[in-house]
Amino acid sequence: MFFKTVEQEQRYNEIGQLADKFAKRAQKYDQEGSFPVENINELKQAGYTTLTLPTEFGGKGATLYEFVLLHERLAQGCGSTALSIGWHVGIILDLATTRPWPKDKYAAVMAKVNEHALLNRAATEAQTGSPTRGGKPQTTVIKEHNYWRISGRKIFTTMAPVLDFFLVSAAIDGDDKIGEFLIPRDTQGVRIEETWNSIAMRATESHDLILEDVKIDEDHLLEIVSARPKQKANGWLLHIPACYLGIAQAASHYAIKFASSYQPNSLNHTIIELPNVQRQIGEMELELKHARHFLLSVADKWDQLEDKTITIPDLAAVKHVVTNTTIKIVDKAMRIVGARSLSENSPLQRYYRDVRAGLHNPPMDDATLHLLAQSAITSFTDKVEKKQG
Ligand SMILES: Cc1cc2nc3c(=O)[nH]c(=O)nc-3n(C[C@H](O)[C@H](O)[C@H](O)COP(=O)(O)OP(=O)(O)OC[C@H]3O[C@@H](n4cnc5c(N)ncnc54)[C@H](O)[C@@H]3O)c2cc1C
Repeated sequence: MFFKTVEQEQRYNEIGQLADKFAKRAQKYDQEGSFPVENINELKQAGYTTLTLPTEFGGKGATLYEFVLLHERLAQGCGSTALSIGWHVGIILDLATTRPWPKDKYAAVMAKVNEHALLNRAATEAQTGSPTRGGKPQTTVIKEHNYWRISGRKIFTTMAPVLDFFLVSAAIDGDDKIGEFLIPRDTQGVRIEETWNSIAMRATESHDLILEDVKIDEDHLLEIVSARPKQKANGWLLHIPACYLGIAQAASHYAIKFASSYQPNSLNHTIIELPNVQRQIGEMELELKHARHFLLSVADKWDQLEDKTITIPDLAAVKHVVTNTTIKIVDKAMRIVGARSLSENSPLQRYYRDVRAGLHNPPMDDATLHLLAQSAITSFTDKVEKKQG
């Protein structure tokens, strides 16, 4: 296995037990399109929401490697639960590494996180599409005396039913700057509109966040962010491929279990003995290994390197390879199972819908290919220039 310490193995096993429990509830939450509050509460009790919180604030200070390892296991149980909590645990890791906020504010919010508060970024808007493409938020903020007034609408706010804090990007009025603001849920003028009707990741309840003339203290401006941010080594975003990999692993397990017990009367053995079924199982396993080793090796590299910017092309490549691979794995699992995979009672049809969402989480495939092309061209040009002296 991939454990580096005994503690990692223990935590992995604990998360595994929860994941197996969540797997039994996943169909219900998916069909209802309701948020798995029960799962999130159990993850809080198990300490998963403080996994990457630095030890100085009471957390476990886990590395990216450990986060990704555990997160994949969690997603084997329930993809929506994993994607939801992944944003929170990932953002906590990002903040721990980059410390971009004023010290006092950071310490105050992390103290709340240690008491089980949950946060997520609400960055996407209908007019901007993916914020990674550099669109300017239509959410605006005006400074008045010693407070801010903020208005706008965000879409795709995952975990909307249970978030305690929203990290909201907004254009600062009369300025070209964009700020990220901390908005506590109970602030007047904050409300959720239940718009989430996606066929994928249905239980994430990624609704619209509406901000109507919300008044917040001036120290709730966390940082000034650029509309076209410098490429950052966003290791924390590896929770996304880890989540989809877990779903693909669950699909593979399901198909193998099915093939081990399904025996049509045209055969005197189960279909697991058929060469074409074994070939597809072999292909799934090859793809799972490829994806998992790539994911964990880049996570490990990110943890080890002082200059994390070196990992930027690798991080994007991992997300591309893993998310696209998981779509292929689920497809193969469904071919093994046959038409029964399309039953509403089969988890495979949920996995099939859920892995599609990976394509639309950042970074997007076209941006990754562009980045990789630039990186390959630059490194080739550098080599030629060095040779020429
Ligand atoms: C399950 C799920 C959960 C999510 N959770 C959150 C969350 O918690 N918080 C949050 O803020 N967001 C969240 N998102 C939103 C996500 O990060 C993206 O912003 C969203 O999916 C929109 O991406 P898009 O690629 O469809 O949009 P767009 O960027 O609008 O792209 C749509 C199409 O237009 C093209 N396109 C648009 N602009 C450009 C451009 N400038 N250059 C080239 N091509 C362009 C794209 O290639 C694509 O073909 C979530 C999304 C999903 C699916």
